[in-house]
Amino acid sequence: MFLPVVVCLLLLVSGLYQFAQSRTIAFQATAAAMLLACAWIVYADNVAEPLPVRKPLAISIFIVAALMILVAVGVSLPRSAVSIPRNAFFASIVCHFAIAFFVMALVKERAEERLQRLVGLDVLTGVPNRHSFSSRLPQTVRYGDAIAMIDIDHFKHINDNFGHLAGDEILARVARELFTRIRPVDSFARFGGEEFILFQPGMGKDDAVALAGSLQKIVSSLQHEIDDQMVTATLSIGVAVCDDKASTAMSLIKKADIALYASKSSGRNRVTLYQPDHFTDKQFQERIGYS
Ligand code: GH3
Ligand code: MG
Ligand code: MG
Repeated sequence: MFLPVVVCLLLLVSGLYQFAQSRTIAFQATAAAMLLACAWIVYADNVAEPLPVRKPLAISIFIVAALMILVAVGVSLPRSAVSIPRNAFFASIVCHFAIAFFVMALVKERAEERLQRLVGLDVLTGVPNRHSFSSRLPQTVRYGDAIAMIDIDHFKHINDNFGHLAGDEILARVARELFTRIRPVDSFARFGGEEFILFQPGMGKDDAVALAGSLQKIVSSLQHEIDDQMVTATLSIGVAVCDDKASTAMSLIKKADIALYASKSSGRNRVTLYQPDHFTDKQFQERIGYS
């Protein structure tokens, strides 16, 4: 931003602005420096916002910058490089068309990417929705992969006692609290209503249960201020961890759901790890819809 102002002041103070050659060199060199900075920003921002068009756009801007440097050199050495500025000017026009095209493509790619992201988010809570969770979940899970089913206890009472809007507020806060405490490799989503699901690849039994326990404690310690009243919400969690070399993700979800219902039926506000010998009771499985 300040570079063109500084260059203009230098030209004025030194009196070089009177010479066309000095003005051309100053303009070309300044523009080249700014274009190089632009090319670098477009390229480096690929980490935060990866878009395929960034690379060709950065290359086009870089070529224009290189051509401007060539013109500045050509103008300062008029005898030895008299044809360079003319060819460079033509090539620079072609590159400007390319830049315009790539910028339009960048705007389109950015809009598409934003839309894609919004489609995968739950509107109320802002965390990923079930659709985006399903697309991230592998069909087959491996030894140590964990699924946690998380349900807010007596949520209907919260709605009934404090209103649906207060319920929405609590639901969104709980969702955000849970979402911020998972690893980047994990997948988390609002599974529906006041239920959430968490997939943790390679987590192992001990860590999966420990993390679920810490989530349960964090949420139960949150105070929600509703109409000058402090409200707390608790979680029941069911955890299932893959014991075999491989099994289907669906069967692991079912086991986590069975463990969740075991948490509910044994008093809520707790974590239960699925263990086959604890849940072979046919009546229990039939009651919750799995047999
Ligand atoms: P439990 O302890 O057995 O889980 O009981 P519960 O009341 O939490 O569960 P139940 O399945 O009986 O009721 C779920 C409630 O969650 C009822 C429904 O109105 C409420 N709910 C679902 N989605 C939303 C939502 O988006 N906003 C609000 N405010 N409430 C919701
Ligand atoms: Mg509930
Ligand atoms: Mg529920």
